Amino acid sequence: MYDAIVVGAGVIGSWTALHLAKKGRKVLLLEQYERSHTRGSSHGQSRIIRKLYVDQHHAQLMDEAYQLWNELQTSSGIDFFKINGHIAVCKKSVGKIKKLVGSCEKYGIEHKALDGSHVNAEFPGLKFNDDFEAVYEQTGGVLNADKCLQAIQEELIKFGGELHENEKVLNIEPINASRVNVQTSTAEYDSASVILCCGSWTNKLLKPLDLQLPLKACKVQVTYWKEKVPNIYSKFPSLIYYKVDAVSMYGLPCEAYPGYFKFCFHYHFVIDPDDEEDLEKHPSREEAKMRMEEITEVVKNHLPYLVPEPKVMEPCMLTTTPDTDYILDRHPRHKNIIIGAGMSGHGFKTAPIVGKILSEFADDVTPSYAVHYYVIDRFHT
Ligand SMILES: Cc1cc2nc3c(=O)[nH]c(=O)nc-3n(C[C@H](O)[C@H](O)[C@H](O)COP(=O)(O)OP(=O)(O)OC[C@H]3O[C@@H](n4cnc5c(N)ncnc54)[C@H](O)[C@@H]3O)c2cc1C
Repeated sequence: MYDAIVVGAGVIGSWTALHLAKKGRKVLLLEQYERSHTRGSSHGQSRIIRKLYVDQHHAQLMDEAYQLWNELQTSSGIDFFKINGHIAVCKKSVGKIKKLVGSCEKYGIEHKALDGSHVNAEFPGLKFNDDFEAVYEQTGGVLNADKCLQAIQEELIKFGGELHENEKVLNIEPINASRVNVQTSTAEYDSASVILCCGSWTNKLLKPLDLQLPLKACKVQVTYWKEKVPNIYSKFPSLIYYKVDAVSMYGLPCEAYPGYFKFCFHYHFVIDPDDEEDLEKHPSREEAKMRMEEITEVVKNHLPYLVPEPKVMEPCMLTTTPDTDYILDRHPRHKNIIIGAGMSGHGFKTAPIVGKILSEFADDVTPSYAVHYYVIDRFHT
């Protein structure tokens, strides 16, 4: 009998299990594939971390998220966190940067507002005219995702948590308010609570529990561009280029491919996470082609020291909700079945806090942060 079983050893499940293990709970983390698999959302070498958010409920998570990532880096001895700064750029006419600067002032985030031409002077490697404006956040940085997962999971084991890889959860059977039965590909367990952190697979496990969430499992193309001048982008800040308020392209230096800059369109295909779909044959491929042409134009015009042709392309999964906000809630009828899903394109940096909130649900204590933003009810399912 476990206090908690966490399903899914991505960044959310791993942090949730770690919080529980640190509180002395008997916790089991189950992962259907190998720990280092690349079929979910949490693998790879780089994720942006920044405090710069317009929404207060995201911004308020970031101070403690930074603290917990820093503590983990120290305690694990694994070097996964670099502060390189973060820069957001957009056309003045959109008004996005004004909102971000307002948010920096409101939440005391160290920043510098810049006109397009000042951006070029401060960051050779970027090219914008004064139709554009930008905000630079000193505290922005990059997390090495693979090393983060390694650190979280090693700490979990150090604190007495169990992690079983290659063990797929096949069925979850609620017994009563303090007991859930979990059947896997190799065993069967009882637990006081179960926390589903299954990313794109969440609805598959929820189906027999009569719940389907408005989640979309999506595949994204991560694109890497070769530098024309060596090392010009290797110590660069992470970058978000907002085409309009809610449509963006993002870039960051990458250790995975020295001499390349990761710069991607935040665009995705809806797929079944278990289908090995060939994106070249996907119904949205024409749209994807247009997006690729668009990002290539942006590289040509604004990142002049990159060869304007993607040299490496890698697929990755995303799980989105209609409002791109997370779902952190309990199953409406089975309160000891807890769900952490729909982390969309920005769930990595906040994972220490999301994991903390989910662990508080499991412990049945009041969450440390306001959670009404993340409830299932907002979608009227
Ligand atoms: C290309 C890309 C770039 C991104 N950039 C950023 C960024 O810069 N900054 C940022 O903050 N965020 C970013 N994100 C988002 C962030 O990476 C995700 O929000 C986060 O990784 C989601 O983690 P997760 O644990 O919810 O999902 P996952 O990592 O997918 O983990 C779910 C796990 O559950 C397992 N599982 C599912 N079903 C079962 C089952 N039945 N039994 C056992 N195991 C099961 C899966 O195998 C998987 O390992 C990015 C995402 C992508 C794809």
